[in-house]
Amino acid sequence: MASVTVRNIRKSFGSTEVVHGVDIDIEDGEFVVLVGPSGCGKSTLLRMMAGLESITSGELLIGDRVVNMVPPKERDTAMVFQNYALYPHMKVYDNMAFSLKLRKVDAAEIRERVERAAEILGLTPYLDRFPRQLSGGQRQRVAMGRAIVRKPQVFLFDEPLSNLDAKLRVQMRTEIRELHQRLDATSVYVTHDQIEAMTMADKIVVMKDGKIEQTGKPLELYDHPNNIFVAGFIGSPAMNLIEGEVASDAGNPILRVTEELSLPLPPAPSLEAGRKLIYGTRPEDLELTANGSGVEVEIAVVEPTGAETLIMSHLGKQQMLASFKERHELRPGQKIHLTPHMEKLHLFDADNGQRI
Ligand code: ADP
Ligand code: MG
Repeated sequence: MASVTVRNIRKSFGSTEVVHGVDIDIEDGEFVVLVGPSGCGKSTLLRMMAGLESITSGELLIGDRVVNMVPPKERDTAMVFQNYALYPHMKVYDNMAFSLKLRKVDAAEIRERVERAAEILGLTPYLDRFPRQLSGGQRQRVAMGRAIVRKPQVFLFDEPLSNLDAKLRVQMRTEIRELHQRLDATSVYVTHDQIEAMTMADKIVVMKDGKIEQTGKPLELYDHPNNIFVAGFIGSPAMNLIEGEVASDAGNPILRVTEELSLPLPPAPSLEAGRKLIYGTRPEDLELTANGSGVEVEIAVVEPTGAETLIMSHLGKQQMLASFKERHELRPGQKIHLTPHMEKLHLFDADNGQRI
């Protein structure tokens, strides 16, 4: 296994730059997830790691070796795609053995590696089947098997679960994570799904428009997003991001959201009156409180999911979502008081979106 180092990498297609100078340190054995909206450059970055796309500028290292000019098959990476494209006329065994045969690996060695990978992936009973005789999840496992048998330095995954239904996706992400723990392989995993990123990653790299917005452990990003993009992207249901202006009420700092509605602010010297802020509070950090405290809102929608109940209300033209684990008797039209947990508040500058 090996570390991967991305140093100030840029990528242009013709005259259009789509990756604008990205730095990532991936440690040996680490599972790193690149996450961001469609079109932000995740696949392009991954393909540059695999050698399927040239690097316009910057340096890519695998271990200590700069591999910018090293052809894909000498990089010792293995890629698993969303579209796993197994060879339909080959049995599972042969699908997994194919790349090793091409590399003229000794037949006994091939058998040993394929059988070992099949065992790890629970595919032993299916080695003699054709891909059409497998479920979607089993096919995706075969695609991973093809990567595992090569014993690469680095696994590269590009949205490998996107074609599976929701339930299977949840199951497979646990399987991939478990597999990672067994193989201890350096892995770079691309997804647009923040839940996948949160549940699978040792380290998350959040990208937007060809740039990195923030890098960190899943809960670091959740608890301390650097800017409103990361705050809104990580977490589901998403963090409430409410715009308002700093004011004071009987000497206490508040955020005026509308003429009538305001939210409590912690006393902070940097919050001069009139400053425009984005007030970030996660739905689970809002508490139902007695009359008189917090902000009074009228319930617009009640959504019980079983595990929790989501309450949506309006603050003027903006929305605020609260979630409760307890089962309160709540109905649309009812007025309630919500109080944000001050120690879990996230404040951002409304002009540049950066955390204050
Ligand atoms: P993601 O995987 O995050 O959805 P991509 O890396 O596929 O994003 O694409 C990033 C940007 O690069 C997009 O704007 C896309 O249109 C552009 N792009 C990707 N591949 C090519 C290509 N071969 N030629 C020109 N533009 C491309
Ligand atoms: Mg992509």
